Amino acid sequence: MGDIFVVVEHRQGEVRDITYEMLFKAGQLCREYSHNLTAIILAGQNESFLDDIAPKADRVIVYEDERLNNFSGELYREILNVLIEEHRPFLTLMGHTSWGMDLGPALCAKTGYPLATDCVDIMVENDRPVVIRQIFSGKVFSRVSFKESEGYLVSVRPGSFLPEEVEARKGEVIKNELPADLPVPRKNFVEFVDTAAGDVDISQADFLLSIGRGVGEEDNIEALKELAEIMGGTLSCSRPIVDKNWLPKYHQVGTSGKSVKPKVYLAFGISGAFQHVAGITGAGTVIAVNKDKKAPIFRVADYGVVDDLFNVVNALKEKLKA
Ligand SMILES: Cc1cc2nc3c(=O)[nH]c(=O)nc-3n(C[C@H](O)[C@H](O)[C@H](O)COP(=O)(O)OP(=O)(O)OC[C@H]3O[C@@H](n4cnc5c(N)ncnc54)[C@H](O)[C@@H]3O)c2cc1C
Repeated sequence: MGDIFVVVEHRQGEVRDITYEMLFKAGQLCREYSHNLTAIILAGQNESFLDDIAPKADRVIVYEDERLNNFSGELYREILNVLIEEHRPFLTLMGHTSWGMDLGPALCAKTGYPLATDCVDIMVENDRPVVIRQIFSGKVFSRVSFKESEGYLVSVRPGSFLPEEVEARKGEVIKNELPADLPVPRKNFVEFVDTAAGDVDISQADFLLSIGRGVGEEDNIEALKELAEIMGGTLSCSRPIVDKNWLPKYHQVGTSGKSVKPKVYLAFGISGAFQHVAGITGAGTVIAVNKDKKAPIFRVADYGVVDDLFNVVNALKEKLKA
């Protein structure tokens, strides 16, 4: 059967985790259904990431050009469209990230291939992909099938697959010249602004005590800060806490905050929206406290306490002070 294309995502000279997650899933599908895994690298000069990517793909198609130093939805769409026309891949995977959200619909319109966005799993049934997507803020999983097509486009939610070591692939490298008739992009990259650096770096902390909207009021945060101090933890939070200006942005965990990898992640009053849990896929032990036993955070937690968070905070304080 045909190829599975994986669009290699990178930023600031580094391959992003979503790329390895997609390569892992694509590798599984290729093994099961005898497809070839082709990684597509569009990057600046001398930035081709071949050492990282080649062992994980049967073939790597590389375009290196200074116009590709930074992501450009318009240029990527044109180049991928040419590649898709030439190779007719069965499936093209891209991250459901700022790249894929820009590229996916544009590529869908250009190629006519159907697109499923923000997928958390991919299977193949009767020679067509079937994908799993979450709806109603992660409370329900839906199975989505495609109308028949020559090829299919899927954007993958970050954190859906944990890349494990897989057998090495042959990694044949093909370096291509950019198509001659590339348009001049209408959007230009201006600058990269990192999430504000602050006085704590949650991405390096071993123990994070994280708070969500369940804390109720700004004044209640003090009790959680005290507990973090007693336990030797670093305070982090979900996005609503930052949106309300209760904590600075550099405390935020998640897709629009930081990805963290503490040994222990203790979450108080966080529901577990996918934008949040995508930031904790690298965490060791996850412990969640939530008064709603159906909160999605319990799906990713190793331990869970169903209770009012303040009961747990007070009990821990008493125990630890004793
Ligand atoms: C483009 C985009 C990017 C985003 N990026 C991020 C991101 O980076 N990080 C992020 O966190 N979110 C992000 N979000 C927001 C995300 O979708 C959720 O809205 C957010 O994570 C919810 O935060 P929360 O869990 O604190 O609040 P809620 O979803 O409101 O959950 C509060 C939880 O607290 C529980 N609770 C209430 N009171 C108590 C109590 N007394 N004791 C115990 N439990 C209690 C409730 O049962 C509930 O489960 C993003 C959204 C979008 C659209």
